[in-house]
Amino acid sequence: RFVTFEGGEGAGKSTQIKMLAARLESEGMRVVLTREPGGSPGAEIMRHLVLSGMGKLLGAEAETLLFAAARDDHVRNVILPALSQGSWVLCDRFFDSTRAYQGSLGKVAPDVLNAMQRVTIGDLKPDLTLILDVPVEVGLKRAAARRGAGAPDRFEAEDIKFHKGLRDAFHKIAADDPKRCVLIDATAGPDPVSLLVWDAVRERLFT
Ligand code: C5P
Repeated sequence: RFVTFEGGEGAGKSTQIKMLAARLESEGMRVVLTREPGGSPGAEIMRHLVLSGMGKLLGAEAETLLFAAARDDHVRNVILPALSQGSWVLCDRFFDSTRAYQGSLGKVAPDVLNAMQRVTIGDLKPDLTLILDVPVEVGLKRAAARRGAGAPDRFEAEDIKFHKGLRDAFHKIAADDPKRCVLIDATAGPDPVSLLVWDAVRERLFT
């Protein structure tokens, strides 16, 4: 089973993905928890490139190609081998983030994104995508609290309008593919949200 988590900044993806992994493991499943951009040694190098100040030197297409290169490495070396061994793979962000950040906001054309998707993931599609949804102000406050005194990454540092556009993009993705995606209200604390996540997983993947 392949489950992806998506959402804007401070939506709680990394907390929820860990809670789901623990729950599945307690049910006796083998779980591989991974993330994008990154997730494999090669892809983590590319993560560093795009998220650091160096990423600002790139145009939207070049940036998208770097994300694609990272995804290609991650899919081949981590995701596909784990799925073929029968593990559950839980991935923090996947191609919906590319569609939202580089597509809707970065204005990279859909045919470019489709071509890259064909090359990097072929027919691989998540069985379930959980889109964690919080009002922008709530998410940015959480992201700032998590960061403490550290500097925001270059996407976190974008303005409110950017983050609202991002939220709209994820809503549209959820509406366009309701068989795969579940939009989850992630405004409440970790425990109540984890129950909503578990309900969605049980309903979609265990029945
Ligand atoms: O989820 P996490 O905070 O680790 O994501 C790292 C950063 O990469 C985020 O700030 C997100 O905005 C950015 N990102 C992106 N395009 C993607 C995936 C992530 O801009 N396709």
